Amino acid sequence: MRRRASDLSGLPQPMATVEGFELVRVRLPLARAWASGAGSFSHRDSLLVRALLRAPAGEAEGWGECPALPAPSYSDEYTEEAVRVSERFLVPALLGGKLSSARQVASALFHVKGHPMAKTAFEAAVIDAELRAEGVSMASYLARASELALPPATAVPAGVTVGLASQLGELLDEVEGYVVQGYRSFKLKISPALGPPPPVALGAVRERWPEVVLAADANGAYEGLSPEEVASQLSGLDDLGLACIEQPLGEDDLVGHARLARLIKTPVCLDEALGSHGLVEAALELGACSVVNVKAGRLGGYLAAVRVHDLCTRKQVALRLGGMVETGIARAANVALGSLAGFNLPGDLSATGRFFEEDLAGPLMLQPDGTVPVPAGAGSGVEVDRAAIDRAACWRRFFRAG
Ligand code: MG
Repeated sequence: MRRRASDLSGLPQPMATVEGFELVRVRLPLARAWASGAGSFSHRDSLLVRALLRAPAGEAEGWGECPALPAPSYSDEYTEEAVRVSERFLVPALLGGKLSSARQVASALFHVKGHPMAKTAFEAAVIDAELRAEGVSMASYLARASELALPPATAVPAGVTVGLASQLGELLDEVEGYVVQGYRSFKLKISPALGPPPPVALGAVRERWPEVVLAADANGAYEGLSPEEVASQLSGLDDLGLACIEQPLGEDDLVGHARLARLIKTPVCLDEALGSHGLVEAALELGACSVVNVKAGRLGGYLAAVRVHDLCTRKQVALRLGGMVETGIARAANVALGSLAGFNLPGDLSATGRFFEEDLAGPLMLQPDGTVPVPAGAGSGVEVDRAAIDRAACWRRFFRAG
């Protein structure tokens, strides 16, 4: 009998077998070209993973998405390399063992160092397949994986990350378009070298929309400057009431961020710097940030992200859910993760239509109150559009166990 997705009671460990994986590389045109301190692109080149599962409740398939960007501009991972490492190392490791649960994916891949985003795609695909077979939603699954035993939210605040614009007028027009759609939270990409000066850009948005939640993200673009120099360039942000400024300095510069955090009023959030649970602990210990951006892909999986959520929630550290210009496949899983009780700042969770004319899964709908309902259906809870995937696919390969 299929379980109801809302059933929060304990589940027996499923006795399932992963029978195969399909890797699908897709190339999707963006509705609007993307630019940030972590590079720019007009097409999303992504790796999808389809897991085939045989479970007591029947056969099921699930989808995961590798959030690595087309080029190694956010981290050293990129799509082409994710395809190679998946073919050569991740698929053989997972199909060579007897994989029966998504909880085993991370340990089965432990001997492959790095590549957290590629690993995340496999874990997400197996979670999705497992939960579709059991009729359980990903939000309730992740809430049960959390040690905090708190029920997930039924809707999450939507947020738009706005890419770098070359002109202030262009930026204001773009934000206005999102405000008209109903968005109430914005994170602006900033850079000391590109676009209007950050205090000017954020000041103009704040003046025009005083009530919105506003944040900034530099993607490490101030690397090379001292914390004192960065503080003087960004002191104009101090009175704008920003939720945070994300990753101003380099990804390994925890000490620099700790110094900067003492010099500016805007809370410092870290993203690229926090590649593991241990690095999050170190950053908090040093006072390098007071807000943590959680991305499953950066941390190596959704279950690893739950552990970081638990750590930060116990320490009463503010949490926001980060995004990587993903299709609806990963965004639906991110909405489920963002429904955990510790996420207390709006994250990069936008509705279907934000990035692509034709998305690959959905719908994720923006409600009039500026929230997106958390899918309650089995697995990630959204409909995966196989025909759209077929149209976007530029390469695919299937691997069967045994
Ligand atoms: Mg970021």
